[in-house]
Amino acid sequence: MIGVSILGSTGSIGKSTLDVLARHPDRYRVVAMSANSDVEGMRRQCLAHRPSLVAMADHASAEALADLLAAEAPEITVVSGVEGLKAVATHEAAGQVMAAIVGAAGLVPVLAAVEAGKRILLANKEALVVAGGLFMDAVRRHGVTVLPIDSEHNAVFQCMPEGYEQGLDGKGVRRILLTASGGPFRTTPVEELASVTPEQACAHPNWDMGRKISVDSATMMNKGLEVIEAHWLFGAAPERIQVVIHPQSVIHSMVEYVDGSVLAQLGNPDMRTPIAHALAWPERIDSGVASLDLFDVARLDFEKPDLKRFPCLGLAFRAIEEGGSMPAILNAANEVAVAAFLDGRLGFGDIPRVIEQTMDSLRGQGADSLEILLQADALARKTAERLLAARVT
Ligand code: NDP
Repeated sequence: MIGVSILGSTGSIGKSTLDVLARHPDRYRVVAMSANSDVEGMRRQCLAHRPSLVAMADHASAEALADLLAAEAPEITVVSGVEGLKAVATHEAAGQVMAAIVGAAGLVPVLAAVEAGKRILLANKEALVVAGGLFMDAVRRHGVTVLPIDSEHNAVFQCMPEGYEQGLDGKGVRRILLTASGGPFRTTPVEELASVTPEQACAHPNWDMGRKISVDSATMMNKGLEVIEAHWLFGAAPERIQVVIHPQSVIHSMVEYVDGSVLAQLGNPDMRTPIAHALAWPERIDSGVASLDLFDVARLDFEKPDLKRFPCLGLAFRAIEEGGSMPAILNAANEVAVAAFLDGRLGFGDIPRVIEQTMDSLRGQGADSLEILLQADALARKTAERLLAARVT
């Protein structure tokens, strides 16, 4: 029996993870879960999965949950705050930790899981964007296995040769081809983008995801964050990562070798496939995902990304090239801008402007310590908020 902790269990990835786990009760047990403030969602998950520990990042939500569970499931311990998230990440009965908190808030808990020697199932790409170098150093130091959940990185992982960690050149890998759907606005006239609504931006053509990543997909910042994620996970220089728009989202990504071979992983766009792959690796288990019907798919299209339409992609390449704390600055500014867009405080077309102006007004520093990166994150959030306020008034 493998114990699993889920950071972010009430989210889209968290729910898909619980769905896969529930198909294999003989193999996995949920031992700990966390959320931010969704008390009712967490209560229902607690009653269905009976973990021994749960954490709510928000203290008042933890108190409300503890009151409810006192009568219904008194054996479940409820904790709160960052220390609570770390307790979930390091639970002694957990062999595997699903890192599915959204945003930089997931960084400290997932680092705690690495330091505790857990196998990491990594969905929380922002953690790698903010602190990829430190994260991968900790992974090597503690000898832990990281299995990517992002469908693209999971596909790349499946297409990589054994021993790729020692360097791509030695293994004959030429390039990573990262596919992107292009999101809901791939063909929308550019002049109409300024007035799109959060509902339109969150209506992804192929994937059903949380609201933040849905907006990131619409701006293609998601692909930019994924380029940075691939750089750290696979030790690939940015110029060896090519973004390919593939509207059907059937090929989840590819690896090209020096002999001209291109290996691809295909499947229906359903996150339960990479989740089941990572949970069971190196074995395979049923995920509940239907067989891919290639006759139904019929065709596979590919396009070059248009950086004028999707300036966020260019900003992410700029951040990784500048290096140091600049990716953390990019990520923080993006989190602020996306939240403002979802709240109706910022237009869709202004998202890249706020990010670029934040990057222009701050100088990146080294990325040598977590403290420096968290300071860069905090300063970028303040700067982006200030720029936002200046726009509204
Ligand atoms: P959701 O918004 O659906 O869920 C986020 C989860 O994180 C919820 O459990 C939420 O709790 C919790 N959370 C939010 N803020 C905080 C915080 N400050 N502290 C602690 N917990 C917090 O996100 P997704 O499931 O869509 O995405 C999760 C991660 O996975 C992201 O990094 C995303 O980029 C990545 N990912 C997602 C994919 C998808 O298909 N959804 C695909 C590939 C990657 P609460 O419910 O209480 O707010």
